[in-house]
Amino acid sequence: MQMKQALKELGFSEDVYQLLSEPQRSLSVRIPVKMDSGHVRVFTGYRVQHSFSIGPTKGGVLFHPEVTETQMESLSIMNSLKNGLLSIPFGGAKGGVICEPRELSFRELELLSRGYIQAISSVIGPYQDIPAPDIFTNSQIMAWMMDEYSKLCPDQSAGFITGKPIVLGGLKSRKNAAGRGIVLFISEAARKLGIELTEATAIVQGFGSLGGYVAKSLADSGVTITGLSDAYGAVYQEQGLDMDSLIECRDSFGTITKMYKHTLTSKELMEKSADIMVLAAVSDPITEQNVRSMKSKLVIEASSGAVTDQAAEWITNNGILFVPEILTSSGDITSSYIEWAQNRQGLIWSKEEGEMRVKQILADAFSSVHEIAEERKIPMKKAAYIAGVYKMAESARFRGWF
Ligand code: GLU
Repeated sequence: MQMKQALKELGFSEDVYQLLSEPQRSLSVRIPVKMDSGHVRVFTGYRVQHSFSIGPTKGGVLFHPEVTETQMESLSIMNSLKNGLLSIPFGGAKGGVICEPRELSFRELELLSRGYIQAISSVIGPYQDIPAPDIFTNSQIMAWMMDEYSKLCPDQSAGFITGKPIVLGGLKSRKNAAGRGIVLFISEAARKLGIELTEATAIVQGFGSLGGYVAKSLADSGVTITGLSDAYGAVYQEQGLDMDSLIECRDSFGTITKMYKHTLTSKELMEKSADIMVLAAVSDPITEQNVRSMKSKLVIEASSGAVTDQAAEWITNNGILFVPEILTSSGDITSSYIEWAQNRQGLIWSKEEGEMRVKQILADAFSSVHEIAEERKIPMKKAAYIAGVYKMAESARFRGWF
């Protein structure tokens, strides 16, 4: 729906929406795996490629029991939009296998990863569709997949997949790429609002690996973190919280609420004021009901579904800058693109060089989305959809598809 509105706003006809509203190609495969028990189990997997108008497609592969084809389809569209707003020359894709990876042995996981690549090999490749890690897949799985692909197409394996171990051509700056992306968007947005990070306060909702990384990095840049919440509750201290001991506490007790005598609920924390509010919790979203007490100048949606559409609308209508997840979650996609570019050129970039290239792309994406929002007087989320769909639709038009 949001894509439809964005196309309309850009003056593209209904015909373009007809093409972009669904993936151009969707493959469903069956993967037999000889299990440790000696029996064969057949898994179902998907690879969905949304749009070929810009160039090859790209997107992660997730291993999860709840994978469905419909979910893959909508996530492939999201990846097209993200690539579009980042000006990365790819369309979006997504893949997945229905499985419970925690119940598979290392050997079974390897066979499943190899089997999946064999099954989808005819539609992937460094200039066709480039997979990457996602939920429950990691650099080891990418390495197995690359090895399998190199047996089928030995001359095409460089840049065939991203998120690889560094020794196999992975990007040196990949670690924490998602968190670093969020921190970059926070500093870009703060700059636009004239907020000096060393004088700013922030509340971070969600203290898992992502929220924890963002909170610690902000604190290292001089931001006073006054509030934090996790699944068990929240802590708040006007003069600032001690990040190092809180991370230690989280890692040893599993919750930050054990460290402070006085704790509050996550809802109560949302009522506190801070210049920057980072929403990185996976459950407990900000809704129309609990958003009304929000007093920040800048709200960062750091995890998918952290803010409902109505709450986001309230935030924007109340003069608060809202940076949507479609933008903040693009750190790993950008690192993947840089990894692919590095591999295709046969180069190895230093950590600093990789980081610098990623930063430039993210900063440019932020400025262009912010500019669209200002010019058209629309929320950043709507502007992100416009930036995301524009090149896809325009390149389809130039190709003569419309
Ligand atoms: N997890 C990302 C996605 O598919 C990976 C994309 C990439 O690195 O290309 O959304």
